[in-house]
Amino acid sequence: MSSFQGDESLSQFHVSTKRISLKGKYITLSKVGSVRIKLHRQMQGAIKTCTVIAKNGWYYVCLSCEIETQTRATGKRIGVDLGLKHLAITSDGNFHDAPKYLRKSERQLKKLQRIVSRRKKGSNRRKKVVALLAKKHEYIANQRRNNAHQVSRQLINHYDLIAFEDLKITNMVKNHHLAKSIADVGWSQLVQFTAYKAESAGKRVVLVEPRNTSQQCSNCDEMVKKTLAVRTHRCPSCGIECNRDVNAAKNILKRASQQLSNVS
Ligand SMILES: [Zn+2]
Repeated sequence: MSSFQGDESLSQFHVSTKRISLKGKYITLSKVGSVRIKLHRQMQGAIKTCTVIAKNGWYYVCLSCEIETQTRATGKRIGVDLGLKHLAITSDGNFHDAPKYLRKSERQLKKLQRIVSRRKKGSNRRKKVVALLAKKHEYIANQRRNNAHQVSRQLINHYDLIAFEDLKITNMVKNHHLAKSIADVGWSQLVQFTAYKAESAGKRVVLVEPRNTSQQCSNCDEMVKKTLAVRTHRCPSCGIECNRDVNAAKNILKRASQQLSNVS
């Protein structure tokens, strides 16, 4: 059973993969027996390792499996702009938002934070809510990670080349205006997950120079200065009009293609 502590607690141990079985909502582990679980993803392939992790009052069984990759080439390329309102905006006009369940959890988190600040320091009533808060943080981190897995999987399945801004440079540029560490975590997760999935699927991730991706016209390269509040790109030079972030995503794809043709 889970125990509650105010501080973050973490421990983990490996379990033999022999005799592991997964049936419906139950997993059977050797020496532990049958335990009810919440399955986050359908299992595929053969189980290679099994780790049990206890963190902030939750127990996780982490199974790694070996599967044959079956991702087909599609002949398509995509540019991805990473944003605050939408996690990812693609050059073909798709918006990947944070899912509704995540927004709901974030609202619940804020509520808990308010309760903590109302309660008296050192009191048991406060300690109880602090433990709940740690648990909620953990829960949201998992939901976010899951979402990044889903979006990266979609990108890998549909495109052969995926272009992102180089975050090492972007962070310096963007954080100057908007210090949002949460968004940063989401962005680097998405890029990381896409990159490693690309490797095993024989696909390609290209990182490009982020400077002026939102200012430059993706159609004619003209510089069209705009503040963050301007959400539509309107080019006086070629007349094109499109969403600001889609324009940026198109520039990201364009730069990746140029980068590749320069190499070969
Ligand atoms: Zn233009």
